[in-house]
Amino acid sequence: MKQQPIITVVGSINMDMVTITKKVPVQGETTFGERFETIPGGKGANQAVAAARLGGNVQFIGRVGDDAFGEQLQEVLKKEGISVTNVEPVTHSSSGVATILVSDHDNRIIVIPGANEQVTPKYVEEHKEQLLTSDLVLLQFEIPLETVRYCLNLCHEAGIPVILNPAPARTLDKEFWSKALYITPNETEENELRLDEHEEIARKIIVTMGDKGAKFRENGITHTIPSFRVEPVDTTGAGDTFNGALAVAISEKMPLSKAVEFANAAAALSVQRFGAQGGMPTRKELEEFIL
Ligand code: ATP
Repeated sequence: MKQQPIITVVGSINMDMVTITKKVPVQGETTFGERFETIPGGKGANQAVAAARLGGNVQFIGRVGDDAFGEQLQEVLKKEGISVTNVEPVTHSSSGVATILVSDHDNRIIVIPGANEQVTPKYVEEHKEQLLTSDLVLLQFEIPLETVRYCLNLCHEAGIPVILNPAPARTLDKEFWSKALYITPNETEENELRLDEHEEIARKIIVTMGDKGAKFRENGITHTIPSFRVEPVDTTGAGDTFNGALAVAISEKMPLSKAVEFANAAAALSVQRFGAQGGMPTRKELEEFIL
């Protein structure tokens, strides 16, 4: 049987700690809340899970803390069939966490990058051999920017295609953007980054547009691939599902318009269920959906 292409995600792994409460305490006040949940997340981990569920052969390069969340987060990735050989705990560091306070329709979020800050260029260099076995690499901006640059450079030299999801939006110079095969902002990030000012970079951009689908430029023409019509329940992680799915499709050498349609379908399925990782479809579910 033909070996599935290897997709490597170099990225963040977080635990979201969600407190649901009617009343948000004011300074100095203690209140009782309603419920508490821990939900695995982080853009890197989410995109890796999306790719693995869709049949991708995924390996992860990242870090967790030496706390209980660290072990749990590694376990979550392992259960999805993702290789975590290159996910090492950082001594004396917490895992990446997001403290999320949900009250009515209001969210208050504090993110502690924790161990994700230790995904340094040196750390990636120590795992370079694994990175260079990749058929495709998937990057986001929740690890240090110099590490993203390092990976882009290394992959470019080795001829390994990179999909760069520029979220949260951060600036890089033109030289580095040009080293990615595709750059996948959402509409807000596209406006912030103004990448299409350079023709060479504009050709690499695939913009996700929520329920409008996604667009890209080919031979000077903008193509819009509409989303699938569904009743959304929770759109958290739609972008991550899109990116993980796109990585699988591109690694399988689907033509770009097919790959974007595949990613739109995966993301449409994901918005019909609660949670980021919780909503991500399997390959079988996706194939039944687009038939
Ligand atoms: P998030 O931050 O919520 O993960 P995002 O802002 O990164 O999302 P979006 O552009 O909102 O990304 O959505 C990504 C993709 O998800 C879209 O390109 C589309 O394919 C799909 N999608 C999002 N919302 C819907 C919807 N309501 N119906 C169908 N598909 C959707």
